[in-house]
Amino acid sequence: MIDLSRKYDVLVIGGGNAALCAAISARRDGASVLVLEGAPKFYRGGNTRHTRNMRCAHDAATDILTGPYTEEEFWEDLLRVTGGQTDEELARHMIGESKDILGWIVEQGVRWQPSLGGTLSLGRTNSFFLGGGRAMLNALYLTAEQLGVEVLYDAEVVDLEIADGMFLSATMKRADGRASVSASTLVAAAGGFEANIEWLKQYWGEAAENFLIRGTPYNRGSILKMLLEKGVQEVGDPTQCHAVAIDARAPKFDGGIITRHDSIVFGIVVNRDGKRFYDEGEDLWPKRYAIWGRLVAAQPGQIAYIIFDASSRNSFMPTLFPPIEAPSVADLAAKLKLDPAALVNTVGEFNAAVRPGTFDHTILDDCRTEGLTPPKSHWARRIERAPFYAYPVRPGITFTYLGTRVNKQARMLMKDGKPSANMFAAGEIMAGNVLGKGYAAGIGMTIGSVFGRIAGREAANNARN
Ligand SMILES: Cc1cc2nc3c(=O)[nH]c(=O)nc-3n(C[C@H](O)[C@H](O)[C@H](O)COP(=O)(O)OP(=O)(O)OC[C@H]3O[C@@H](n4cnc5c(N)ncnc54)[C@H](O)[C@@H]3O)c2cc1C
Repeated sequence: MIDLSRKYDVLVIGGGNAALCAAISARRDGASVLVLEGAPKFYRGGNTRHTRNMRCAHDAATDILTGPYTEEEFWEDLLRVTGGQTDEELARHMIGESKDILGWIVEQGVRWQPSLGGTLSLGRTNSFFLGGGRAMLNALYLTAEQLGVEVLYDAEVVDLEIADGMFLSATMKRADGRASVSASTLVAAAGGFEANIEWLKQYWGEAAENFLIRGTPYNRGSILKMLLEKGVQEVGDPTQCHAVAIDARAPKFDGGIITRHDSIVFGIVVNRDGKRFYDEGEDLWPKRYAIWGRLVAAQPGQIAYIIFDASSRNSFMPTLFPPIEAPSVADLAAKLKLDPAALVNTVGEFNAAVRPGTFDHTILDDCRTEGLTPPKSHWARRIERAPFYAYPVRPGITFTYLGTRVNKQARMLMKDGKPSANMFAAGEIMAGNVLGKGYAAGIGMTIGSVFGRIAGREAANNARN
C-alpha cells in the first residue's frame, strides 16, 4: 500500500525507459522513490514499449556488436544527422556515458540480441533488446520493484506546485479523485507532446489531423507544458520531431514498428499528383528513415505512395499491411486513385534516367539517376517487372523535440539561466537538447538511459543534501 502522506526523496513522473532508469538509479543510491505512470498497467511504458534497439559507443566488438563504434564516430553521425543543431558539450557527454550504459542496462536485467537484418545496417552500432522494448521494460520494472521503488499506475499528473524553480508537490488524477504527493526532488520523464493533436496543430495547422501517432496516446505533453509555464527554459523547435513514413492504413495511435515502411530505398515515392518529390537514395536508410514523415507531411493531403516492382518484393522487412498489387503501373495508379497518365509518366521518366550500376543496399552504391529532378542518388533500378506494388504512407509521428533545457547533471535550467533547485529531466521531454533536428536510429533510448541514470543519481544526491 503506497503511503501518499509521506514525503519521498525522488518523485519520477512517467513510466518509460527514462523514468525507470532514473528510478532504479536513484533507488540504488539509497533514495526513496515513487513513480507515477499516467497509463494503466497494461499500457505502461509509453513509447519505450515499441522500441527495438539502442545506440551506444564501444571500443571493440561484443557478443552481439560486429565491431567498434568510437565516441568520435558516434559524434560525427550525430553532427551529420542534426546538421550541427545539437548542444555539443551535452551530446559529447551523453556519448561518453553511453559506453557504460551497455553494461549497466544488463545489470538491470535487460538482455541483448544481435541486430535484425533488412535495410537496418545497425549490426555494428546498435544493440537490440532481446524480446523488444516490452521485454526490456518488464525487466526494468521487475528490478525497480525488487529494489523497493514504488509504482502507481493510472496516475496522471495534472498539476505541479513549483515555486522559484523549486518543485514542491504534484497532483494526480486517480479513479477515486485527485491526490497530492510531495517529494524532495522531481525527475520529469513524461515524454513529448506527440499524442496531443491540438498542440501539433498550433504549428502544423489542419495537416496535423492527417498525422498518425506511432506510439502511446498518453504522451500529451502536459508535464512539459506545466514546466515551461512555471519558468523552465525551453529548448528546441516545436515543429521538429522524429517522424517516419508509416502505412496510411495504420491506427491513429500505437501502431508501433510493424506499420513502418523500410522499402523506400527500393523504389520511388510519389505524392497524390503522381509526382516524385525527394531523393529516395540520398543516404543509408538508418540516417534517412526519420525524415520521411516530415516530407510526406509537406505533400498535399499528407499522403504519398511508395512504388516498386516484383524485383524488390522480398528485399525488405515485411510490414503488417500487404502492398497493393497490380499487373501494370496504370492499373496500380487506378487502384490508388491516382491519375494513371501521371504515374506512368513519372515511372517512365525515372526508368529512362537510371544508369547501370551494381546494386547493393548496404553501401552507397553506384546505381543512380542522371538528369532527373529530384535525383535518386543510390539504389536506383528500373521499375519494370510486373506485378507492380504500392504502399500508401502518411506521416507517422514518433516523438517531438521541444523540451526542457538541462545541463550535464540532467538538471533543468530556468528561464533566467539558473539551474533549478531540485528538478531533473530525462528522455523525450529533454531530447531537443541533443536533437535539434534529424535522427540516427537508436538515439532515443540512449537519451533516456543516459540522462535517466544521471537524473536519478543527481536527484538522490540532491535529496540527501
Ligand atoms: C514505434 C516506435 C519505435 C521506436 N523504436 C525505437 C528504437 O528502436 N530505438 C530508440 O532509441 N528509440 C525508438 N523509439 C523512440 C523511443 O520510444 C523513445 O525515444 C523512448 O522510448 C523515450 O523514452 P521516455 O521514457 O522518454 O518516454 P516514454 O517511453 O514514451 O515514456 C513516457 C511516459 O510518460 C507517461 N506520462 C505522460 N504524461 C504523463 C503525466 N501527465 N503523468 C504521468 N505520466 C505521464 C506515459 O504514460 C509514458 O509512460 C521508437 C518509438 C516508437 C513510437
